[in-house]
Amino acid sequence: MGKGKLFVFSGASGVGKSTVLFHVMDKRRDLQFSVSATTRAPRPGEQNGVNYYFVSKDEFRQMICEDAFVEYDAHMGNFYGTPRQQLEEKLEKGNVILDIEPVGAFAVKKARPDAILIFIAPPSWEELERRLRSRGDTGEKQIAMRLERASWELEQSKRYDYVVINEQVETCADEIIKIIAKEAE
Ligand code: 5GP
Repeated sequence: MGKGKLFVFSGASGVGKSTVLFHVMDKRRDLQFSVSATTRAPRPGEQNGVNYYFVSKDEFRQMICEDAFVEYDAHMGNFYGTPRQQLEEKLEKGNVILDIEPVGAFAVKKARPDAILIFIAPPSWEELERRLRSRGDTGEKQIAMRLERASWELEQSKRYDYVVINEQVETCADEIIKIIAKEAE
């Protein structure tokens, strides 16, 4: 597979991963974002082909049959997968960022041991809970499910190459940029 370096990011929901990655990509314009396919519905402002490829469950199953994914997983009742061809094409051009959960991250590491796994962690458990609740758009049951999942995800962070704490977005992004600069040399 291609000449670029692959950086895989994970982090519990509510940790602010998307905001951090936005800052990282704004400062390192050479990084290409791997757009995943998902069966979940688009959120307000999300664009097909930019944030995700939004597909039906049938289309997703078809892609599995065609071996079109490097990895895929079910998460909170929806499927998510990394399209193989797109990833290979992007890696031919340069460095790529994947934003996927731990099961997918470990599958990528197995397929491509030179991939660098970076986990974005909250400053504390209390802060993660506070951030999740302050989103306001999530019911108690959803929050409980997300917290349970977050606890498992935090446990998985031990298996990552780097763990970066998101206390403050800019500082966290700068730390990640340093890791990328070092690993992509
Ligand atoms: P969300 O629905 O909030 O955008 O994403 C939910 C979770 O799915 C996040 O942890 C995100 O990192 C993960 N995810 C997004 N794309 C993929 C993918 O292609 N594969 C896997 N395994 N997880 C993904």
